[in-house]
Amino acid sequence: MQLPAKRQCSSPTASAQFRARLLAWYDVNARDLPWRQSRDPYRVWVSEIMLQQTRVAAVIAHYQEFLRRFPTVEKLAGARESSVLAAWSGLGYYRRARMLHAAAKVIVRQLGGKFPHTAEGWRDLPGIGRYTAAAIASIAFGERAAVVDGNVERVLQRFSGKRSEGEALWNAAGAFLDHERPGAFNQAMMELGATVCTPRAPACLTCPVVELCATRGEMAGGPKAARQKKQEIHYALDCRDGRVFLVQRPGDASLMPGMWELPEIAPPKNHAQPAFCLRHSITVTDYTVRVWRQSAHHPAGKWIARSSLMKQALTGLARKILRKE
Ligand code: SF4
Repeated sequence: MQLPAKRQCSSPTASAQFRARLLAWYDVNARDLPWRQSRDPYRVWVSEIMLQQTRVAAVIAHYQEFLRRFPTVEKLAGARESSVLAAWSGLGYYRRARMLHAAAKVIVRQLGGKFPHTAEGWRDLPGIGRYTAAAIASIAFGERAAVVDGNVERVLQRFSGKRSEGEALWNAAGAFLDHERPGAFNQAMMELGATVCTPRAPACLTCPVVELCATRGEMAGGPKAARQKKQEIHYALDCRDGRVFLVQRPGDASLMPGMWELPEIAPPKNHAQPAFCLRHSITVTDYTVRVWRQSAHHPAGKWIARSSLMKQALTGLARKILRKE
């Protein structure tokens, strides 16, 4: 099948056509995601924080349960940090949960429970950067604030045929923004990047703006994907009398401080087989995880009843091992 004839893509008329086609496409093709059923700022905010570094499928699995446990910003602000971390378990990058919790306290204690209405106001809160502030303000309050994330960057660069970066990209996103429906437009840009204008093999034949696009495919000389490192890691699984021995990560650890996990051990020297193995990926590392049934001693450890395990702030990997066990 052939691509349709190209049209001029840089005139103001082309920008208006881009907006109209993109929004018409989004109105029909938007994925039915739970956070799109409401423009309630609390729900929009929670979803945007979860989506920052976690795949949509994983967020779907945790979003509703998180809201069930903390249905309002007041409930979230009043919760213990360990409960918030436990509800976040499985989403990774726990700093986001701590910042979400800290921002909830600011909203309740300093802003009287009222959410900021502008991107500028949101940026004053812990854990909210330029992208997240604009996303929340445009979706929940209709502010004319454009967003740039990895998806939007790719769409804009391919569409214009220019490798714009930094402020130039933000300006380009602002120039395309639909002033009547800024929230829907921002979501449509991200949706196009996530489902059609994908990093590899974009589906240009089904793209609503293909006639206006300067590139119609991957741009030449794109950055190479980072190679995944491989690493092996061993854990002791010690279960007795309905309890499991877990250790707490140090409070000043750079990754997942204060979370609970199985004790890590050196690879056993004998030729025995582990109880089971699994794979776990974190950013650029693929781990082969070997779990050994053996006694474990650790000064930062304690026995935790199996019945209360899932309420603990476990690391994602610990949760995965204990589910498989
Ligand atoms: Fe992306 Fe292809 Fe659409 Fe251009 S035509 S925006 S490259 S999907």
